[in-house]
Amino acid sequence: MSSISLHNISKVFPDGTQAVQEISLEIRAGEFLVLVGPSGCGKSTLLRLIAGLDELTGGSIKIGGENAASLLPKDRDLALVFQNYALFPNLSVYDNLSFGLKARKVSKVIIKEKIIPVSQRLGLEELLQRKPDELSGGQRQRVALGRLLVRNPSIHLLDEPLSNLDANLRTSMRHELAKLHNEYQKTTLFVTHDQVEAMTLGQRLCVMNQGRIIQVGTPTEIYDFPEHRFVAEFFGSPPINLFKGEIQSVQNNSFFTNGSIQIPLPKDSDLSEREIELGIRPEDWTVHNEAPSHSVSATLQRIENLGDTRILHFATQENAIIAKSELREFQVGRQYFLTPHWNRVHWFDLQTEKRVLR
Ligand code: ATP
Repeated sequence: MSSISLHNISKVFPDGTQAVQEISLEIRAGEFLVLVGPSGCGKSTLLRLIAGLDELTGGSIKIGGENAASLLPKDRDLALVFQNYALFPNLSVYDNLSFGLKARKVSKVIIKEKIIPVSQRLGLEELLQRKPDELSGGQRQRVALGRLLVRNPSIHLLDEPLSNLDANLRTSMRHELAKLHNEYQKTTLFVTHDQVEAMTLGQRLCVMNQGRIIQVGTPTEIYDFPEHRFVAEFFGSPPINLFKGEIQSVQNNSFFTNGSIQIPLPKDSDLSEREIELGIRPEDWTVHNEAPSHSVSATLQRIENLGDTRILHFATQENAIIAKSELREFQVGRQYFLTPHWNRVHWFDLQTEKRVLR
């Protein structure tokens, strides 16, 4: 197993595009790390730099402790699975699976010994003589994974491998990928722009935006303690409610205000007077029928029924508020009273957009 160490790496394309900027990251041997961020933030470029398919503009990469600059792509003991799987259309599944080993002059007998267990593992035994265009999307995806497992490199680089599959197949392939990682324990870098995929697959997530790392952490750290407004907004569906406003203090009582919303802070809050942005996730509101002391009064405008939960769209005079509830008895047009779970709210500096700890 190999670790990957990125030290201050950057990539500027000839047209001047800064795709990756000053990225430093340690990926532990055997770890499943997800690179996640919006389209164009540099995820694929980072993967290609690690694979040796693109040249670094600055910085250095170590693979298994060795400087990658001295390693040709074929000597990096890694394999990359692309979004479109890159199968050879005129080769059978068997020949697609054996291609990498044949290129390395591995004997036919050994190739067969490697292909049989992998094809059994992935349910491909009956399909070995078919061509890729005679397979479903999910089957093609499994062939691409099979090709990787047959070669069995130390590092698996997966670039949005599930994005061509329908929702059900994505979910079942997610489970399959997690199980495969458990069995094979390979160092895995998985690229996605899908927050659910990232949260459910990654042991750690590396959140990127505009070529830079914004936060690295476990799914729980990323969701519960976003270090940056961008991370808070990127994760969570429906998205977090964000209110720009300020902390004011009157006679030792502090409250957050932004016009129509005025919420007193708990007594133990150590936020002093300042401009600030308050983030409250939809699930972190309690919705009351009668006004408790200190609540936000809002009119229910729309209900989205997800079966097990209701997404409630409220409006105050100036703000829209989204809340989530497992209760069912809500009426559009009625006034309700909302209180936040104070131990779960998030504060962000207005200028730097970084988390302000309470
Ligand atoms: P997506 O999720 O859409 O695949 P990504 O996060 O993987 O996006 P990259 O493909 O790494 O993003 O692209 C990062 C930036 O670099 C983008 O602005 C892209 O347009 C640019 N880029 C990528 N390849 C090249 C290239 N060969 N020449 C110039 N710019 C490029």
